[in-house]
Amino acid sequence: MSSSARHPSPLTGLLVNAAELLRRPGNWKDVEIDVESKHFEFDDPRLLPQLVGIHLHLECSNNGIVVSGNVNAQWHDQCCRCLKDISGVAVGEVAEIYQREITDPDAYRLESDQLNLAPMVREHVLLAVPDTPVCRPDCPGLCPVCGADKSTPEGASCGCSETPVDPRWDALRDLGSQFPE
Ligand SMILES: [Zn+2]
Ligand SMILES: [Zn+2]
Repeated sequence: MSSSARHPSPLTGLLVNAAELLRRPGNWKDVEIDVESKHFEFDDPRLLPQLVGIHLHLECSNNGIVVSGNVNAQWHDQCCRCLKDISGVAVGEVAEIYQREITDPDAYRLESDQLNLAPMVREHVLLAVPDTPVCRPDCPGLCPVCGADKSTPEGASCGCSETPVDPRWDALRDLGSQFPE
C-alpha cells in the first residue's frame, strides 16, 4: 500500500486539480482512494453498493497527463454454466491520457485544468467485470437435457444423452408435446 494521504472527500478525490501537474513535464501525483460506488452511477446489477479502490499515478508529459495504475471493485453474478451465485474482484488496468486540447482520439479532456477521474474509473471497472464468469474453469455446467448440475454425483450420472439437441427441432418437439400420445 502507498503512504499517500487518503482524501477526506470522495468527490474532491475524483476531481484532481491539474494546474500544479501541468506546470512542468515530470510533475506527478499519486491518487490512492476508496470511493463509494454511487459516485460512478454504474447502473449494473453485478456491482452492488461498495467502495471502489483507486490506485493511480498521474504524471505530466509533453502530450498531456498520463494516468496509470489500476481500479478495482467486487462483482456478483451467476456462473454462466451452472448458474451458481459467484463473486470476484474486477481489476481494471489503467493506461490513459488526459489532454487540454485533444490530439489523441482516446484521450480524456481536461476541463479548466480539472482532471475528472470519475468517467475513466467507471469505464475501466465496467470493462473489467467478466461477461461470462465461471465458478471454476472446469465447471461442467448443467445437463442440457434435464438441467441437473453435472458437478454433483447425481447430476454427473443423470443418464441423459450427451448429444446436443439441434435447436431447430425444439419447435417441432414442443408442438409434439402438445399432443400427448
Ligand atoms: Zn459453475
Ligand atoms: Zn440429464
